[in-house]
Amino acid sequence: MPTAWPFIKWEGSRGDPCTRIYNLKIIARALMALIVQKYGGTSVGNAGRIKNVARRVARAHDEGNGVVVVLSAMAGETDRLINLVHEVSDFPSAREHDVVVSTGEQVTIGLLSIALEDMGYRAKSFLGHQLPIVTDSRFSCARIERIETEKIKEELGKGNIVVAAGFQGVDSGGNITTLGRGGSDTTAVALAAALKADLCEIYTDVEGVYTTDPGVCADARKLKKISYDEMLEMASLGAKVLQTRSVEFAKKYRVPVMVKSSFTEAEGTLVCEEDTDMERVMVSGITFNKNEAKISVVRVPDRPGIAAKLFRPLTEAGINVDMIVQNISHDAHTDLTFTVAKADYKRALGHVKKVAGEIEARDVIGDTNIAKVSIVGAGMRSHAGAASTMFETFAKEGINIQMISTSEIKISCVVDVKYTELAVRVLHEAFGLGKEDVAEER
Ligand code: ADP
Ligand code: ASP
Ligand code: MG
Repeated sequence: MPTAWPFIKWEGSRGDPCTRIYNLKIIARALMALIVQKYGGTSVGNAGRIKNVARRVARAHDEGNGVVVVLSAMAGETDRLINLVHEVSDFPSAREHDVVVSTGEQVTIGLLSIALEDMGYRAKSFLGHQLPIVTDSRFSCARIERIETEKIKEELGKGNIVVAAGFQGVDSGGNITTLGRGGSDTTAVALAAALKADLCEIYTDVEGVYTTDPGVCADARKLKKISYDEMLEMASLGAKVLQTRSVEFAKKYRVPVMVKSSFTEAEGTLVCEEDTDMERVMVSGITFNKNEAKISVVRVPDRPGIAAKLFRPLTEAGINVDMIVQNISHDAHTDLTFTVAKADYKRALGHVKKVAGEIEARDVIGDTNIAKVSIVGAGMRSHAGAASTMFETFAKEGINIQMISTSEIKISCVVDVKYTELAVRVLHEAFGLGKEDVAEER
């Protein structure tokens, strides 16, 4: 049955044996951990699965831990809500969009709390604004600024399980905001950081972080651990198992994050500080992203200030540019190619066409049939040859590379979208990442 969790004052070790035993129990309890557990959409996809989650949460509580649970909406529900908004209007206001889209999480936190109560536990659900989780006012992609932890601590102190809605917050004006797709991961890690929790567990539909998306490559291998930096690159380059922002929080506040399955008892992957083991392998993972589009500005006059002129309107429109390639100049003209998120493609094209006219570029060509395929590994800092292996592997398969970008621990190539899965699989093999290739699991 529920017990009050550690906010109990130490009374000293003197007194009669009964008091001493009682005090020892208090110490034991004070040594128990505070855990934040997040369950994703598939894990809470129906009533049966919510009951399964309740059993897992109850177990962690029975083991003596303080438990804060963060939930997503049921799988498919956030998509359904977004579609509903667009059925009603082509131009919904950002504020009301978030009012609607945030509601999926209210259903799951209530249902889980009911399931826990049914099992004899005391649980209390909270929406973002009830805690509150305070964000900026960028609807649909708000950033967490502050989390008030008093209410959570009070509930934990009473021995209650806290169930918080993921993905949502409230701005300083009292408006409901959402954190971007996959944002419940960020709610969980941010709560773990604010509460100084001992561990943040992310429960999902796969058993951890794999060398590549197990849905695309059957040979993908689960990693025992991965560094914050590698996970940050993997997430931002398309591995949707964790939202990028959640990894930024984890790295900044040194929150240990364990990614595991809500359907099995398998061990999972620990996202943590880099250690020497991690540098032994050159490449840890392969990622892909089909959500970008490419824009080429053809025969741009090659003189100072042209790039600034092209990109300024994009910045002002809040459009992020990812990769940029400028060709070597011929007869004082050059070609400039860059990528943006597919969601921003039409707006970006409009802005660029306008500037292209003004600077007398010959043409603007857009292409949405591209994918960015990347290799990631902390070991690239100390091993040479990753780039040549990647390019040779593509050459052997006849995959043309359209753009390349690199950082200390990643190399990305833009290729035709039709080659995405093939590119991932051949790279996975070329870097020896498969189950058969590695004797000792990292
Ligand atoms: P949840 O709803 O639990 O948040 P997501 O769908 O957001 O789950 O993330 C889990 C999915 O991420 C997996 O089903 C898997 O297909 C995908 N994924 C992509 N890359 C990876 C990777 N490297 N390791 C594990 N899963 C990955
Ligand atoms: N329900 C939200 C989404 O589908 C948040 C999340 O699942 O993390 O994006
Ligand atoms: Mg997710």
